[in-house]
Amino acid sequence: MFQPIVRLADDSIAGFETLARFNSEILGNVPPSEFIPVAEEKQLIVALSKKIIRHALEFIMLLEKEGADELTVSVNISAIQLLREEFVGDIIDLVQEYAISPDKLVLEITESMLAQNYSEINDKLSLLQNAGFRIAIDDFGTGYSSLARESELNVNYIKIDKYFIDKLLLYDEDQVVTSEIISMSHKLGHYVVAEGIEYSCQKEYLMKYNCDFIQGYLFSKPLSMSDAILLIKKNHPDAYTA
Ligand code: C2E
Ligand code: CA
Ligand code: CA
Repeated sequence: MFQPIVRLADDSIAGFETLARFNSEILGNVPPSEFIPVAEEKQLIVALSKKIIRHALEFIMLLEKEGADELTVSVNISAIQLLREEFVGDIIDLVQEYAISPDKLVLEITESMLAQNYSEINDKLSLLQNAGFRIAIDDFGTGYSSLARESELNVNYIKIDKYFIDKLLLYDEDQVVTSEIISMSHKLGHYVVAEGIEYSCQKEYLMKYNCDFIQGYLFSKPLSMSDAILLIKKNHPDAYTA
């Protein structure tokens, strides 16, 4: 599925995050929080991820065909994948196979991955950025990475975890640090995406504190490829050329 990531300035769609789904005949709809760890444990994650990345690249091709060629598509990358020696070469081969510019693809890695293998991972991120890919730190604020090393991170986007967005519903503005995370990330040169926006009051807070992008049910749930294209046509009538 593909969930829109929206510019706060004008409500336009900037891109989509690819979210894996597993519909089993026996088990029904299994959430990724359950099947991704199993795939990792059973050494199926590499093959599964290639399949997911291929879906993301097919979606980018479709967006380009529809004239919405400025949009990016994100994919979630697990530690096991990123730490493989072949990862950088494999992902370069994949975008070349689809003739897609690497800057259309955003690789999301969780902050907790950095806490464990900081130097190794940051070096990989630098290689990926030099190859043209964009990088997002996912679940930011929950992963115990070091603030001291934050400024050296080779990343383009910080995705603030839903935890800090939910807090906005429960506490007064002066009791939450969400706005400080936004200004810190901006000072360090990263764009900020806020995740899990469900209510307009959360959106208003984020606008007030100059967050760049939002993602959440308030704008849209994750969509099938065809529904995502329909939404684009509605949201960007001018970009749509076909
Ligand atoms: P994530 O990367 O933090 O993805 C965001 C999750 O929040 C998604 O759950 C999304 O459907 C959900 N979400 C988005 N907006 C809202 C909202 O407004 N309210 C609420 N309550 N939830 C919202 P999902 O799709 O169940 O994915 C869960 C996690 O599974 C992801 O968290 C990610 O860590 C992992 N995952 C999903 N797809 C993949 C994949 O292809 N590869 C890997 N390695 N992990 C994946
Ligand atoms: Ca993510
Ligand atoms: Ca997240």
